[in-house]
Amino acid sequence: MNLNNYVSIMDIEFINTTKNNFLDQEIYPRLNQQEKCFIVTANPEILMKAREDAVYKQTIQSADFVIPDGIGVIMASKYMNTPLQERIPGTEVMMDLLAYANEHRLSCYFLGAKDFVNEKVVLEVEKQFPNIEIAGNQHGYTDVDDPTFVEKVVKSNPDLIFVALGLPRQEQWVEKHIDQFNKGIFMGVGGSFDVLAG
Ligand code: UDP
Repeated sequence: MNLNNYVSIMDIEFINTTKNNFLDQEIYPRLNQQEKCFIVTANPEILMKAREDAVYKQTIQSADFVIPDGIGVIMASKYMNTPLQERIPGTEVMMDLLAYANEHRLSCYFLGAKDFVNEKVVLEVEKQFPNIEIAGNQHGYTDVDDPTFVEKVVKSNPDLIFVALGLPRQEQWVEKHIDQFNKGIFMGVGGSFDVLAG
């Protein structure tokens, strides 16, 4: 078994651990210490995009953690004889983080997806995780880089920010704006809002 902490696939360093260890050892401590952190959930689509776009590749490389989502990434790691321990699905990580935020009464910001999906996500969170403080929410079909808007998000001071703008925009948004924040776990969640909204 490959017990190295990272496995490199196409110049992207994937964390090589289990979902539970990733959360317990890396993410929950950072949340407790209010340490900023950028998580990229990388599937083969992201790898392909990174291969053809050097700037996007740098964006992915700027993340604190790249987690392997999708069986294609696991298969690639096996093929290279550096097998990753397990697939870490972004949707599951998001749900676990929401459960943790509920337990510890943390605040979350929900950025992205269509207007009605974004509204539904907030309703679902209020229903399933009533102790979460909703720092704010905004659908993803507007100018999310507008400085006044970004300043509003920064002021809401969330513990966690879930960004569902699709690739490459969600990772680019985090890379561009994370420096303005004092704290926060930032995670690109792709279509996970659509899943949570049902
Ligand atoms: N999305 C968005 N703004 C955009 C493009 C996409 O909010 O300009 C949202 C979309 O509604 C969906 C999520 O981003 O909820 C993921 O989109 P998609 O499935 O197209 O991206 P991928 O899964 O390829 O990352």
